[in-house]
Formats: sequence, C-alpha cells, structure tokens
Amino acid sequence: MISPSDLAFDQQHIWHPYTSLHNPLPVYPVASAHGCEITLSDGRKLIDGMASWWAAIHGYNHPQLNHAAMNQIEQLSHVMFGGFTHQPAIELCQQLIAMTPTPLQHVFLADSGSVAVEVAIKMAMQYWVSREQPQKKQIATIRGGYHGDTFAAMSVCDPVTGMHHLFQGSLAQQHFAPTPQLRPTDPWQPTIMAPLAQLLEQHHHQLAAFILEPVVQGAGGMRFYHPRYVTEAKRLCEQYQVLFIADEIATGFGRTGTLFACEQAAITPDIMCLGKAITGGYITLAAVLCTSAVAETISAGPAGGALMHGPTFMGNPLACAIANASLTLLQQSPWQQRVDAIAQQLQLELAAAKDLPNVADVRVLGAIGVIELNHPVDVAVAQRICVEQGVWIRPFGRLIYVMPPYIITPSQLTRLTQTMCYLAKTL
Ligand SMILES: *Cc1c(COP(=O)(O)O)cnc(C)c1O
Repeated sequence: MISPSDLAFDQQHIWHPYTSLHNPLPVYPVASAHGCEITLSDGRKLIDGMASWWAAIHGYNHPQLNHAAMNQIEQLSHVMFGGFTHQPAIELCQQLIAMTPTPLQHVFLADSGSVAVEVAIKMAMQYWVSREQPQKKQIATIRGGYHGDTFAAMSVCDPVTGMHHLFQGSLAQQHFAPTPQLRPTDPWQPTIMAPLAQLLEQHHHQLAAFILEPVVQGAGGMRFYHPRYVTEAKRLCEQYQVLFIADEIATGFGRTGTLFACEQAAITPDIMCLGKAITGGYITLAAVLCTSAVAETISAGPAGGALMHGPTFMGNPLACAIANASLTLLQQSPWQQRVDAIAQQLQLELAAAKDLPNVADVRVLGAIGVIELNHPVDVAVAQRICVEQGVWIRPFGRLIYVMPPYIITPSQLTRLTQTMCYLAKTL
C-alpha cells in the first residue's frame, strides 16, 4: 500500500502528464502488472485497455522481455555511443531494417518519440542544406495530428489541440492542410487531395518535408482516414520535391493490422519514425530510419556530413536489448491473427453503442476501438467507474477508446467493451 502521506506528496509535488498541480486528476497507485492485468496497491486488479499508451503490446512482465533486460544489465546497462558500438544496437538496427520497407537502410536511435520527430525534421533540413537549398526548412502537415511535445514536434501538432497559442512566437511556423475526412472504407474521392496539392504548389520552395501519421491520427483525435490519401500525398511530395516523413510511432508494429500503416498505402517514406511499442512498453527508445538517398545526401554536405544530433543515452544497450527481444517476440507471434481477432470482436461488441443518444461515432481499425461521444468526457468520473468495474481505460476529449495488448483474451476484451458501452450510456 502507498501511504496517504505519500499520495499527498505526489499530489503536491509531482506533475503527471497534462495536468495542473492544483486539483490534479486523481492518480491510482500501481503495485505490479502481469499479462493484461494491472494490480493496484490496494490489491484491485484492472484489465488493461491502454497498453500504456500503445506500447505494451505483449502485456506486462513478459518472461522473454524480463530475461533480455536482466541478461543485458549483467553485461552492460549503458555506455556512450560516441566512439563505441555494441551487439544490442547492431542487432536492433538489423531487425528494424529487415522489418521496414527495403529502401529504408539507415537508422538513428533516439531516446523518445518526440526526439525521433526532432531528428527526422533535422534530417530533412540538413538534406536540403546539402542540396544547397537551405531555404527549404519549413514543414507541411495535416491538421489533427500529434507528433510529440518538444518544440519542433509541437510545431506540427494540431494548432488547436496542441495549444499553439500558449507558445506563440516560439514555435516554428509550419503549413497545415485540412484533416482528410475520408474514412478507410469510403469510396475514394480524388478531390480531397486538392488542398494539399495547392499547399505544396504554393510553398514547396520553402518546404523541407511533409509529415503525417499514416492512416491513424492517434493522440490528436483517434481519427482513421483513407490510406489512398497517404499514397497520393507521397506522390505529390515527389512531384514538388518535398521529403515525406511517416510518423509511425503509434501505428508501427502491427497496431493497425499491418506491421506498418504505410503498407496499407503501398508507399515507402523517405524518413520513418518509430517508438512506443518498439520495446514492448518496457523502457523509452525510438528510431528514425531513412533511405540511402537521404543519408548519402546529408553525408556529402557541410559539417563534414555529420547529422547534428547525439543524445547522452543514444543507443542505450539495455533499451536495445529489450527492443530486440520485443521485436523477435512480435515476429514469432501470430500478431496478425491476434490483431484481426481483436478488430472483429471490437466491431461486434461496440456496435451496440452506435444507437445511443450520446454517441456521435463508433469506429474500429486493427486493435483500436473508439466510441466518440457528442460531448467531452469527465475523465475523473469515467476513470472512477472504470476502476470500479475492474478495467483501465483513460478517455480524452470526447473519446472513449481502447488499444489493448495484443495478448488480451476474448473474455478480457469483452470486459473492456462492456465498460466502454456503459460509459457511453451513462456519461
Ligand atoms: C506518442 C507519439 C509521439 C511522441 O512520442 P514520445 O515517446 O511520447 O515522445 C510522436 N508521434 C506520435 C504519432 C505519437 O503517438
């Protein structure tokens, strides 16, 4: 048990994500987690619907991941990556290059998703410096996106949900096309490309890159859109000489039903960001992959061709060893059947919510299920109900959603969907 005084300390001194220190949202003390279950310090068990923000795809406390971590700790937890290399990093980069589309041949290991996005943007800028077009340094994107919390990443998040007004004057000015409104199953409408085509035509002289989350916009609103938009956007970027960055930090490693969401659009990005599920939710790590054309152009440029980035904990061996185990586990597992089965069950069991008066939309793609209400959710109330019902779901905005570990059982998933429908009915 965590003592009341420790909880009071937490409330008074520790910031949790996106909260005020005054009247913070309640936090529930966790003691342990196993498989798809999180145990609170008072002994209550919660079925996990969040995979700790898309990350814990294999569930918690997995024997193979534990083994990889402990084994690596006994060899080497960390050593600087400047001047050294090691087997865990090499093996991880080999796996990443093998898993991702063939043209992606070079890897930069970063320490979080946001930093990966910073590095991707930096790569794009340095690419154009090397091509002697240093004026190409702005970024285009679509509204409704989320790319992280550091400054360059924030500058390409949705201006409204990303609270750009708070940081006015300090954020790089970027270019925004409208959110694609066509759903993956809608008939294709070429006209939805017009705003992006116009934006690129008008601004391509200043644009280093275009960034998006392929097919699924995650933290910006859990929106699913037509893969053909991604295909056509890539084509337009080629036409206008703008690099294409796919932020697959949330979508990567099977979540949307394919290993990477780009596969649904049959494209290879020039630069791809990966994170979140890469270590199976054990420890922070991210990666940026790029094509040989990008890497070689940067390497032929000024500053001796160096990519100007190198975090202290770059290539952390412990994180790399766990990532290796996680990716091996993923590829050895029937992840595709699991994700498909989760999708089918979510479709079936969330359908009941469609006709509720409070419900604006119900949608499912891969192992992601969303009920969108027509009013904002009171998160504190919703979470209290969830915990009482023995599940862990954390709504945001008008969205009640789940993206569980792939190993969730049908009966556990039913508990999640029942609670989602109950919330949709009662909130
Ligand atoms: C979570 C997320 C990020 C940021 O990753 P952090 O590890 O939280 O910094 C960037 N892009 C997308 C699409 C994400 O979902």
